[in-house]
Amino acid sequence: MKTLAIGIDIGGTRTKIGLVNLDTGQVEGILITPTETKDADQFLKTIGEAISQFKRKAATEQAILVGVGMGVPGFVFADGTVDSTYGFLEFMEDYPLAAHIQQQHDLPCLLDNDARVVALGEAIYGQGRGFVRILVLTLGTGLGIGFTIDGKLDGQLPFAHMGGHMTITTNDFVCYCGKTGCLESLVSGAGIGRIAARRGWLQQYPEIPLTAESIFAQKHSGNTVAKAIVDEYIDYLKTGIDNYINLYAPDVIVLGGGIAKGLSKNETDQLYTSSLLRPYKAYKTTVLISELEEQAGILGSAALFKE
Ligand SMILES: [Zn+2]
Repeated sequence: MKTLAIGIDIGGTRTKIGLVNLDTGQVEGILITPTETKDADQFLKTIGEAISQFKRKAATEQAILVGVGMGVPGFVFADGTVDSTYGFLEFMEDYPLAAHIQQQHDLPCLLDNDARVVALGEAIYGQGRGFVRILVLTLGTGLGIGFTIDGKLDGQLPFAHMGGHMTITTNDFVCYCGKTGCLESLVSGAGIGRIAARRGWLQQYPEIPLTAESIFAQKHSGNTVAKAIVDEYIDYLKTGIDNYINLYAPDVIVLGGGIAKGLSKNETDQLYTSSLLRPYKAYKTTVLISELEEQAGILGSAALFKE
């Protein structure tokens, strides 16, 4: 009999809800709704309609539906309570999200941080397959981090996703966490914007939108200012990856998120040098770009039921 789980990825503007075949990693249906950030009842209602629809589909197929997994953009406790989402979902402060879903739908509900569930998705269904120690970095509006060993998430909730705030340089970029020079403040979408602004991009190219995508595209078509911006960006990211290698010794580093899609093979090759961890001759790792893309969060949320 087929085993299914519902995976929910709460994003900045859209929430993606998928029905996942846990054995094959096939997403058998996706519903996308605008993310409700202000009203708790409306949030539960919108998600609830999708859950009910997938519950009926699972019943029609006579499949086993094991539960609902969710990736939450913030601090999550192991008991399924959301501590905070840094104000993004206004009602989600000390919020018993898993308990609400369980009561409404009579299904088990598991929660974890959104970047961590992406890592779990990559580990079980994506580029991490065949590796043991998998580090996944999501380069998007922020920097997400997750680490898995043997298909299991590593690190204790609620703080296990904070590795993006390691100090990389002594510049004056202030991160929302309060520190300066955090990796997240440099390699996120906002980070590349800051690097570009400091290099005078806006004055020189006011007509080109200041996004990671356009900067990478300009570099690839020969713009020397864009090349300097990307070189500086790669340098910060490489320093971060060097530090993560020292901490985690991953067999593979998977890069996901909107910015990772813009990296060329030549750029990803620059992110790792074989001289790292030289004392350990046998250590090697590789950097790969995610192929799951938008489905990673859905798959990883559902895969909380495989942990
Ligand atoms: Zn920070």
